[in-house]
Amino acid sequence: MSDAVEKLSKNVSIDSMEDSYRAESPKSRAYFERCSMTMPGGAKGAYFYAPYPLTMERGEGCYLFDLDGRKFIDFAGHHTTQILGHNHPAVIQAIEKQMKQGIALGAHAGVEAEIAETMCHRVKSLDRIRFCNSGTEATLHAIRLARGFSGRPKIAKFEGGYHGSHDAVEVSVAPPLEKAGPATAPVSVSGAGGASPHATEEVVILPYHDEDSVKRLLNENRDELACVIFDPKAGIMNLDKDFVQFVREITKELDILLIFDEIVGFRVSWGGLQEIYSLSPDLTTFGKLVGGGFPVGAFGGRADIMNLFDNTSGPTGFFQSGTFSAHPLAMVAGLATLEQLTPEAFNRLNGLGERLYTGLRKLFRDRGVDAQVVGLGTVFSIYFTDKEAVNYRNIATADTAITHSVFHALLQQGYFLSHNLSMNSLSLALDESHVDGLIEAMGQAVNEVF
Ligand code: PMP
Repeated sequence: MSDAVEKLSKNVSIDSMEDSYRAESPKSRAYFERCSMTMPGGAKGAYFYAPYPLTMERGEGCYLFDLDGRKFIDFAGHHTTQILGHNHPAVIQAIEKQMKQGIALGAHAGVEAEIAETMCHRVKSLDRIRFCNSGTEATLHAIRLARGFSGRPKIAKFEGGYHGSHDAVEVSVAPPLEKAGPATAPVSVSGAGGASPHATEEVVILPYHDEDSVKRLLNENRDELACVIFDPKAGIMNLDKDFVQFVREITKELDILLIFDEIVGFRVSWGGLQEIYSLSPDLTTFGKLVGGGFPVGAFGGRADIMNLFDNTSGPTGFFQSGTFSAHPLAMVAGLATLEQLTPEAFNRLNGLGERLYTGLRKLFRDRGVDAQVVGLGTVFSIYFTDKEAVNYRNIATADTAITHSVFHALLQQGYFLSHNLSMNSLSLALDESHVDGLIEAMGQAVNEVF
């Protein structure tokens, strides 16, 4: 902590913030207690923040309204999916039309081709694409396909990279530093109780931004490696373009497939993150906004690999099934979302992003707060640490108590961000006044927390 901040008195404790939170959200509290009777931890999924999470009754544009009738400006965007804001008329119209035609028909619904063509048109490395129901499914199928195509058993992923919740990738996502081994040769640490004991043996862990170690680890394992799955952490970690391109070059050189995970990153530009990095991966995974707010995943890439799923001339031995794959509502909502995301829309979003990230960085600098603001396009993260956000271990030094207090201080002022202040996002429903308001609210949060 810098001297300037040490001089500021910490005038609002987290206990009193949580007391006000309880006083102002009794209905959310009661609802959470009710959920806890039937759902472990009271949570609908993994997300929890103390003392209990808010229940949001309604969303409209950039606003969320909780059960207690309070209004929040949404900078979380349902884990980055809601890039148009909530209930955009184009999305509502598309799903209403589809609902009248049929919700699930057990056949092509005539709505799949257009979004598939749109994705293949926008993302240059996509010759073919398949849809599924979540990002987790997308990475599961892409990895399985890479193993089958290459005939090799192992995969490599980056330390701190997240690719969903199946065994192969719930490894070294957030390993405790004391278990993580040397920075140049990270140990493969399982993060999921009950995962196959073989999962960790099959995953080689790579450090971000360390070309020498990546080169050595890939060379050591090259005969066994089917793929490198790469979470580029758009707006979550500052990744050098040179490093991203190095990962493409070395995997090509060693004949290892590269799977680029754009489940979050696709939202940063018209042609996806790979457009920004001038990159052509072998396979790419998608999710989130591609379903316009409905459950979705997608993966695609080189025709010679993807065509293993083509069983029309006899069994290839490769399958990707799923009762709800390419669900008509997700397809039409996703297409309606993509249609709004024109190059002009991205210019506007990028402008809002720059305004926010510049403003936050200036604020923290002026107030002497050790904070890292990572921002790329519409995704941003804030870490309270003096270490640059360039690898997992640096980010892991962020102060969680300060983060929690700042999150509550912002909520108190009507700003809803991701509870760990990482992977926040902007939507087209926001304007400059909301962005300036968040910077001002952060100034007040700094007054209260430090
Ligand atoms: N990959 C990345 C980069 C993600 O951020 C996520 C989800 N946050 C996933 C994969 C998994 O997607 P899903 O939650 O839809 O399974």
